[in-house]
Amino acid sequence: MRRKLVAANWKMHGSSALTATLLGALVAEPPPCEVVVFPPFPYLPQAVQLAFGAVGVGAQDLSAHVQGAYTGEVSAAMLHEVGARWVLVGHSERRQYHHESDVLIAAKLQRALENGLTPVLCVGETLDEHERGNTERVIASQLQTPLQVLGGGLAGVVIAYEPIWAIGTGRTASAAQVQAVHAFMRSQLAAHDAKLSRLIRLLYGGSVKAANAPELFAQPDVDGGLVGGASLLAEEFLAICVAAR
Ligand code: PEP
Repeated sequence: MRRKLVAANWKMHGSSALTATLLGALVAEPPPCEVVVFPPFPYLPQAVQLAFGAVGVGAQDLSAHVQGAYTGEVSAAMLHEVGARWVLVGHSERRQYHHESDVLIAAKLQRALENGLTPVLCVGETLDEHERGNTERVIASQLQTPLQVLGGGLAGVVIAYEPIWAIGTGRTASAAQVQAVHAFMRSQLAAHDAKLSRLIRLLYGGSVKAANAPELFAQPDVDGGLVGGASLLAEEFLAICVAAR
């Protein structure tokens, strides 16, 4: 059985006060599924302290390097030292604005796993790729390098399917579309390792809300969600978590 997981990507939003509010709400009313929050770097120690181990805490990115003269970067070991146990890797906003390649993303996955962090690998197609019917081709190519580099190590990774055209747009992929892509991802993984494909958790992300979460999470190959905008509203986010029971 794959335990449902709901993850909150706060992006570059929030403050110390909001960190206290959101963690306070999650800890006061423990959700029926596993929950992880991804605050901006400066709020990680505060989030870890307020999570009391009941909620996972992760970073939104990490360096592909172990250490060294890489101004502005944060290593996997540093994240682990401040109590983070999760990290987002290859979010579409990193791929788009920071030109992250599949090779770089695979290196980040390796650094995360070597340092006891569970990476959430994000994949997803653009609107143009979607409309041209290239979704499966894009997803297969985004999975290929991590699979080659990590092999069975991919068992320690969670994968989030996030169609770029659904992120922050209010336009959600239909439950049937999501299920079809998730089943495709499982088939791609099965071609490498049948056991891995059954065990790995696949999240959906893209305008998830309390209203659409129950149908999305009811799909057989959807193991929870990666939530952006709605994760900044305590009540809404808690309702999404309840849908993942
Ligand atoms: C995200 O950025 O990971 C995301 C899913 O955002 P939103 O829920 O706002 O579409």
